[in-house]
This record gives sequence, C-alpha cells and structure tokens, in this order.
Amino acid sequence: MSTVNTSSKYKTVRINPISPKPPRASVLVIYTGGTLGMVYESVGRQLVPFDFEQILEQVPEVNRFDFEITFLPLSEPIDSSNMTPELWIEIARIVNENYAQYDSFVILHGTDTMAYTASALSFLLEGLNKAVILTGAQLPIGIARSDARENFLTALEIAAATNLAGQPIVSEVCIYFNSVLLRGNRAKKNESSDFNAFKSENYPILARAGVSIYYDLPYLETYRPGIKLHLHEKLNPNVTYLKIFPGISREVVHAVLKVSGLRGVVLETFGAGNAPTMDWFLAEIRDAIDRNLLIFNVSQCDGGRVTQGQYQTSKFLKDVGVISGSDITAESAITKMMYVLGRTDDPAQQRTWLSEPLRGEMSL
Ligand code: ASP
Repeated sequence: MSTVNTSSKYKTVRINPISPKPPRASVLVIYTGGTLGMVYESVGRQLVPFDFEQILEQVPEVNRFDFEITFLPLSEPIDSSNMTPELWIEIARIVNENYAQYDSFVILHGTDTMAYTASALSFLLEGLNKAVILTGAQLPIGIARSDARENFLTALEIAAATNLAGQPIVSEVCIYFNSVLLRGNRAKKNESSDFNAFKSENYPILARAGVSIYYDLPYLETYRPGIKLHLHEKLNPNVTYLKIFPGISREVVHAVLKVSGLRGVVLETFGAGNAPTMDWFLAEIRDAIDRNLLIFNVSQCDGGRVTQGQYQTSKFLKDVGVISGSDITAESAITKMMYVLGRTDDPAQQRTWLSEPLRGEMSL
C-alpha cells in the first residue's frame, strides 16, 4: 500500500509492508536523478531523467520488504554531471531534517559524480550514526538487463540491516554498487561500461552481497550510541585541481595558482607525491603558499599513498608547507577542502583538519 504526503516542501510516497507484523525499519529514499531513472528521449535518443513515480512502477519488489520505505524525489531530477555544492547541502539538510523519523537513508544518484557527493555528505554530516547509502545504475531501470533493480533493492536491504542488539550495521556514508559496499569517501568511479563502476583502492570492501550479505565489521565505522548528528551547511567552492605532467608550462601553473579568489588547490602529483624540482615550479608553489593558498598533495596513482620527503622530488613540497593527502582520493580531497575552508578562516586549523582523517577518508 502506498500513501502520498504533500505537506512538506517535497511530495513523498510511502510504501508500507504487506506483512501483518510491524515494519522492522523505516528507510527514506532520496531520488536525485542519474541513469537509473532515465529514459531515451524519443527525438534525439539521448538519456534524460524521467518521473519518479514511473520508476516505482519498474520495481514492484519494493512492496515485498518487511520495512517501510518513503520516497522523496528532489524537485527536479538531474544528470549528476550537474551536481553542485548547493545541492549537496540540500541533500544533507534533508537527511538532517528527517534524521529522527527514519532509521536510514538511500540516495539514488547518477554514477558520474556519486563519489564526490558521497564524500561531501560524509563531511557535512558529522556524528552520523545511521546508514546513508548511495546507489545508481549503469543502465536505466526500464531496460531488461538493467543493473538498477539489484543495486536499489540490495542498497535498501543494507540500509535496513541491524545487528542482534537492534543497532544499524552500517552507520556511515557508503556507496553500494554491483554487489559491493564501499566507504563513500574512499570510492572512485572507475568504469563507464561494465557494471562494476566503483572501486576503493585504499580501503577494503565493507560488504559483499551474494546469496547472503557478508559485512566486514572491523572496517565499518562503529555505531556510537547517543552521539548527535551535527549538520554543516557551508562549503567553499573556491578550490581547484592542478594536475601536473611532464612538460607542464610555467604559464599554466602560474595562471591556475593566480585565479582570483582561489583558496585551495589539490595538487595531483606523480607516484608517492613527487613533482618537478625546476626552480620556476618551486617558486610558483612557494609564492602561492606565501599568499595563504592551501595546497593539498594527492597522488595521480589510485593505490598507495603520498609520502612527502621520500624522494628528493617531494622534499621541497614538504619544506615549503604543502600538506600531504596521504591515500585520499582526488574526489574526497576536493570536497574536504571545500568543507574545511567553509568551516574556518583560521589557516592553522585548516591545515590541521586537512592533515588528519575527519571521517575515515584517509590513513595517517
Ligand atoms: N550521466 C549519468 C549521471 O551521472 C551517468 C549515470 O548515472 O550512470 O547522472
């Protein structure tokens, strides 16, 4: 049975379990868009988002769960390439406003920027003690071979899962995709054709879904009874990436570091955090740091970590005040910078927060 509630800003649809027993959990599903809910436009044959209630018709299985599911579509579904920091804050607010009412949350999202959204939410939702699971699909739900149904239904099952003490098994922001559950701020989209779209090179898989769902409990955040959710609502988007390559010119480096209003740079370096040692390069970096720009060193390699000082080609970066990103992903690094710059104007505090793991996003 489904009921519609139009009293809040968003119209929600609730699916109650058919079972006569009381529902074992309540899950809020936030629909943002993405391939999962797209259809082929009749004229141009391009994929465009379609109406949320049509999606529900494609997954009648949701009626069979023994928990209550409420659907909340954002006002306008988007291709996640149009995701913005404002929308991240909007989604975090929805979670915060509904936090007491629901046991957990599933966010349906396009795969292209899912890892950025998962990272941003992990920073905005401090003290999270419930599951927030992002999922999506490589093929639209209306297509027979779509991966949407399995991803969506298992994400719901994981969101509703509790241990024998009735506590949530997952109490952090995760991505569930193609049978694996990953920490959200450790995940990366690494595949645009195959169904295994996400990987997490520097942190173990948190759960695998086969006939049963096996959770790797030591790697999951532990549930902390009594802890309060604290919503952060400020992100500073005045940040950028600077990816170096052999032959990069001084003009390019100079132009990027001199962008007006820029506050932070994720410097994508080689290997274990190495960069050219030409005098001009070092001078540009030193000048940027003297102007109070935060520079966060992240490796172009997906696996391994930045160890500034291991090679002569990274020692200068350390000496001049570039902050090591250790094994953080580029997606997590840029959202962490937005968060840290949004939270404080104190450069010493910004540096401290960037250097240490705040939500399990990097190793020390
Ligand atoms: N372009 C789509 C999006 O990110 C791709 C997807 O959902 O897989 O919204």
